[in-house]
Amino acid sequence: MASLNEILRFNKEFVEKKQYEPYKTSKFPDKKIVILTCMDTRLIELLPKAMNLRNGDAKIIKSAGAMVAHPFGGIMRSILVAVYELQADEVYVIGHYDCGMSTVDPYLMVDHMIEKGISEEIIKSIKYSGIDLIEWLRGFGDVEKNVLNSVDIIRNHPLFPKNTPVHGLVMNPETGKLDLLTNGHEYLGNK
Ligand SMILES: [Zn+2]
Repeated sequence: MASLNEILRFNKEFVEKKQYEPYKTSKFPDKKIVILTCMDTRLIELLPKAMNLRNGDAKIIKSAGAMVAHPFGGIMRSILVAVYELQADEVYVIGHYDCGMSTVDPYLMVDHMIEKGISEEIIKSIKYSGIDLIEWLRGFGDVEKNVLNSVDIIRNHPLFPKNTPVHGLVMNPETGKLDLLTNGHEYLGNK
């Protein structure tokens, strides 16, 4: 609860002291890349540092588990905006080992919702609206398979430009080491 006041106090000082100066840049990514990665807290600073990215270098989109849950959802839309409107011409999907999304139990999560006051009627009504809540909440078992699945959805999206490379990688959340799963240039060359 205290964090909002703390953040606002810090923010006022940050702006007054012009501490934003070193971060000035434009909305276009200097390295022309868009990255889809996980919202994991360990990657906030580690991922850009481990990839030598500075403010202004890349578009970074985050979702739980670096998943593209729906081909016409917000994540895919962000990727298309980055590619068509913001000059990105390369896509990186970067999952990580020890991802929280790989251990999410959708049944347990529904129990937690009920514990926090969501009524069972609402859960039921969602089910009867034709939404498979369990499937929607489900994480993944294998991080590599999940990254490759996201890459596959992007590469085969009907609105995604066919000559734009999409790479798939997995990061070690302790060391920042990247393992390459699929190289988008090679994929395009082999097609
Ligand atoms: Zn994660």
